[in-house]
Amino acid sequence: AAPPEGVSAWVSVDLDAIRDNVRELDRRATNAEVMAVVKADAYGHGLVPAARAAVAGGATWLGVAQLTEALELRRAGVTTRALTWLYPPGADFGAAIDADLDVSVSAPWALDEVVAAARDRGRTARIHAKVDTGLARNGALGTGWTDLVAALGPAVAEGAVEVVGVWSHFALADAPQHPTVLAQRERFVEATAELERAGIRPQLRHLANSAATLTNPDAHFDLVRPGLAVYGLSPVPDLGAPEAFGLREAMRLTARLALVKDAPAGQGVSYGHEYTTPRDTVLGLVPLGYADGIPRHASSVGPVQIGGERLTIAGRVCMDQFVVDLGPSYAGRAGDEVVVLGRGGDGEPTAQDWAATVGTINYEIVTRISNRLPRVFV
Ligand code: PLP
Repeated sequence: AAPPEGVSAWVSVDLDAIRDNVRELDRRATNAEVMAVVKADAYGHGLVPAARAAVAGGATWLGVAQLTEALELRRAGVTTRALTWLYPPGADFGAAIDADLDVSVSAPWALDEVVAAARDRGRTARIHAKVDTGLARNGALGTGWTDLVAALGPAVAEGAVEVVGVWSHFALADAPQHPTVLAQRERFVEATAELERAGIRPQLRHLANSAATLTNPDAHFDLVRPGLAVYGLSPVPDLGAPEAFGLREAMRLTARLALVKDAPAGQGVSYGHEYTTPRDTVLGLVPLGYADGIPRHASSVGPVQIGGERLTIAGRVCMDQFVVDLGPSYAGRAGDEVVVLGRGGDGEPTAQDWAATVGTINYEIVTRISNRLPRVFV
């Protein structure tokens, strides 16, 4: 599909790539189901179309952080089983039950709220008990897990909840040899055994994000939970680029030059005049800025590709725009395409290039691409 007429910049999302990436992840996780993680607007790729493409590739589950994201999937008619895991006290667990969503429980207070909502409706809520095996983020830690297991017994006996899953998350999945990876796996097995001793046997044990799905088969258990890799990005760039894992990037960010003009030597460019033209030259104006998710830290260093040539941002990134020094012999004009982020073929910058340039991770680059930019699904 072509970008809308007259649009300054757009994000193309290759849904076939998402489908194929999920197929590849499913193939690698031989004995496990795949939960495609589609939180944060599917890492910036568009929640509902990305979720559908993931399901077409074999995902039998969808994972989102917020209940609102899960409800949005249901409103769009996506009926695939879905897990949601992050909420404060007072969240609308009734809506979750009504929408056939599975909810994660990390503490007895959350269990109490889910049980109350289930009783209210005369239904059984489906939950995944989350154990903190060492990330010290969400999940029940240490004796907190023992307390949660104790609270689960009566809730299950009453029929208010069914414990569908037991799950956890790694702190250093991207360093598969790190001792915490093995230690967290061991703690996970132990915590599952504690549940079993209480007579609770969840069908699904899940622990692996993208990095563990790709590098650590011992962590696959019954279901893997990849996010980043679904979108064709490498969670372990030091160990391999996406193609090394049979993945391809789904996102491409393109803009059209909004202005092309001659500038003399010695011209200070953009706020603060951080860049000065070294010679008479041609400047191009790219209609993307930090409000669109271009990091301001990319000022004077961010990469783009114009007319097949790799160029660098000249001076500061502004809210809606930045400037590129196109060089004295630039023969193009306003409207010419700028590849800001792509698959890397022929020198295109990738999300990983951007991440390395500004000192962050590829996750942050793609998730911050703003909703101001239309998504074009191809
Ligand atoms: N599981 C949980 C609990 C997460 O928070 C995330 C994302 O951060 C994922 C799975 C997916 O992780 P990744 O994108 O590294 O595959």
